[in-house]
Parts: sequence; structure tokens; C-alpha cells
Amino acid sequence: MQCPFCGSSSNVTETRESPDGTRRRRVCSTCKRRFTTYERVGSPGLRVEKRDGDLEPFDSEKLMIALERITAHRSVVRPEDLKRIVRDVEATLVDAGARTASWSAIARLVLGRLEAIDRVSADRLRVNYLDDDGRLRLEDAAPAEEAPPQLGLPSVE
Ligand SMILES: [Zn+2]
Repeated sequence: MQCPFCGSSSNVTETRESPDGTRRRRVCSTCKRRFTTYERVGSPGLRVEKRDGDLEPFDSEKLMIALERITAHRSVVRPEDLKRIVRDVEATLVDAGARTASWSAIARLVLGRLEAIDRVSADRLRVNYLDDDGRLRLEDAAPAEEAPPQLGLPSVE
């Protein structure tokens, strides 16, 4: 995000969710002035590459549902952790100035964050929810309960 005063790049110092969208406090890297930006929920600017190469708007709800599936029955992962991961991944992409993202880039960001919370869920994502190209499978991802046993991962049922 360009500084409105001098046009230099800026850094986010604080991110808050509000009913109007995401509010970010930013500080300019050059003139050090502070300013605030608002982004509507769902960051309409961010689009995701589908498998067939088409672009679709980033759908945080879809990612949230996939994460809920991946972490099903993992009591160490709280719903607020998942919300934070989704928000954080989206904010990371938006802050990096990304207009489009791939599901494999999103998968990598999610994995890093999930791993810090629960390795079992991260392994489950890696084994059951990534396609051969490392893309996160969403629509066609089998519910955790129906997934066949994989590579001797500990049972979580
Ligand atoms: Zn500036």
C-alpha cells in the first residue's frame, strides 16, 4: 500500500476486524507518517487461481470450511485459531500486494501456521488435502471422517 503523503511503501502496524471490514494502521517506511486503511470483508481485490486456470474471488468462507474439516476432532485447535489463520493468510497476501494467489501458495501459508498450532492437523492437510501440485483441494476434499487411513497417521476419531 502506497503512502498517501509521499508515495513510498508502508508497513502494517495493526490489523483489526470491524463491521465495516478490515481496518489497518499503517506507517510509511520513508516519511513515517501514519494512516489507516479499510478493506471490505473478503478483500474483493484478491483472486485465486482455480485448477483450470480461471480466477475466482478469494473466498475466506470456503477456506474456513476446509480448515474446519481438516482440524475436525482436534481439540487443541480452537475455532478462533482457524479464524486467525484465515485472516492472517488473506492479510499476508493482500499486504504483499498480491492481486492473484494460487491455492498452492495459500496452502503453504496455511500449513506454516497450522503446524505451529497442531502438527497432526498440518500432517492431515498435507496428506489428504493437497493435490499433486501442492494445491489445496477444497470442493472435492473428502470429509476427514471418510478419508481412508493414510500413512499410519495417528487416529483422531
Ligand atoms: Zn510517506
